[in-house]
Amino acid sequence: NDQIPGNPYWSPAVARLHPYVPGEQPKTTARLIKLNTNESPYPPSPKAQAALQDPQLPQRLRLYPDPESTELRETIAAQFGLAPAQVFVGNGSDEVLAHAFYSFFQRPEALLFPDITYSFYPVYCELYGIEARTLPLREDFSIAVEDYAIDNAGGVILPNPNAPTGRYLPLAEIEKLLALHPERVVVIDEAYIDFGGDSAVSLIERYPNLLVVHTLSKSHALAGLRVGYALGQEHLIEGLNRAKNSFNSYPIDGIAQKVATAAIADREWLADNCAKVIATREHTCAQLLELGFEIIPSTANFIFAKPPKISAEALFLALRERNIIVRYFNKPRISEYLRISIGTDEEMTALVEACREVL
Ligand code: PMP
Repeated sequence: NDQIPGNPYWSPAVARLHPYVPGEQPKTTARLIKLNTNESPYPPSPKAQAALQDPQLPQRLRLYPDPESTELRETIAAQFGLAPAQVFVGNGSDEVLAHAFYSFFQRPEALLFPDITYSFYPVYCELYGIEARTLPLREDFSIAVEDYAIDNAGGVILPNPNAPTGRYLPLAEIEKLLALHPERVVVIDEAYIDFGGDSAVSLIERYPNLLVVHTLSKSHALAGLRVGYALGQEHLIEGLNRAKNSFNSYPIDGIAQKVATAAIADREWLADNCAKVIATREHTCAQLLELGFEIIPSTANFIFAKPPKISAEALFLALRERNIIVRYFNKPRISEYLRISIGTDEEMTALVEACREVL
C-alpha cells in the first residue's frame, strides 16, 4: 500500500488496494458520546438478547452451523412476503455487497454510482477490478436519475437513503433506474430504510434486475453481530450463492443465525425503536436549525449538517475535546458538513448544548 511500496511478499493486487477506513471505534465508550458510526443508541430487542443467553448455544458451537441459514432466511422471507429462495444472508451487509459486486458487476463495463456515497463502493471496485463511473449529485445532494441513462453500463448501486447525506430517493425514481438498465443489476442498499423511507422490496416482483440489501446493524441495534441480507428474484440470489459457496461454506456463524432470527421476528420492537430514533432526529434537527445549521432532509438515523460561523472540521475537533465524536469527511463538497448519528435524547441534548457553546 502507500506506506510500504513494493513489499516483496504482497501480490500486486494487494499492493494496489486502498482499503476502507471505518469510523473510530474507541476501546471504551464510558465517558464518550459516540455519534460517528450510525449505531443504535438502544440495546437490541429483548428477544434477541434472550436468544443469545440460550444455554444450549455454547453446546452447539462444537458443530458447524447450518450452511444455508435456513431458519433465518425463512424468518426474513416471511417478513417481506417473499420465498426463502429470494433471501441471501451474509456477515453484515458489507459482505453481502462484496458478493454482489463480485457476482454482478465484475464485467468490462463501468459500474455507475453517485460521486458522494458509501465509500465502500470504490473499495470493492478496486478489489474486484471493476471500473467505476461516478455521477455528481445535484446541488441539493439529490440523485439525478436522468444522468444514469448511459449505454453499456455494468450496473448501478446506490444507498437509499444515501450515505452520508441521508437524502431519500422516491421509489418512482428507482423504477426509472431499473427501467434504464434492464439487462444489468441495480443494487439498492437500504441500510437506513427503516428510519422513514419506502423500501424498494415492493418492486422485486416486477423487476428481475433489482437487488435490495438490508442490515441488522442499524435499526435492529445489532452492529456487533454482523448480519446483513439481500432480497431479489431467485436467479439473483442463486448468483450470490455461487460466489458465497466458493468463498466459505459456512458463511454465517450459528450464534448470529439464532440471534438474528429472534431479532427479525420481533417486529413490534423494531417499529418502536425506529419511532424513538425518528422522534429524536426531528427534535435535534429543529434545535440545530435554530442554531443556524444547514441540514439536508434525512430519512436515516443520522443527519448531515453544515455548521454556521465555523468550519465543520473546527466544530468536529471542538466536539471531540468535549468527548463527543461525530463524523467528519475530508473530501470535496462534503467537508463543510458533519454526519451526526442519532443518539439518545440525553446524548443529543448534550450535543446541541456543546454546539451552542462552541458557536
Ligand atoms: N451500506 C451503507 C450505506 C452503510 O452506511 C453501511 C454502514 N457502514 C453498510 C452498508 C454496512 O453495514 P453492515 O456491514 O454493518 O451491515
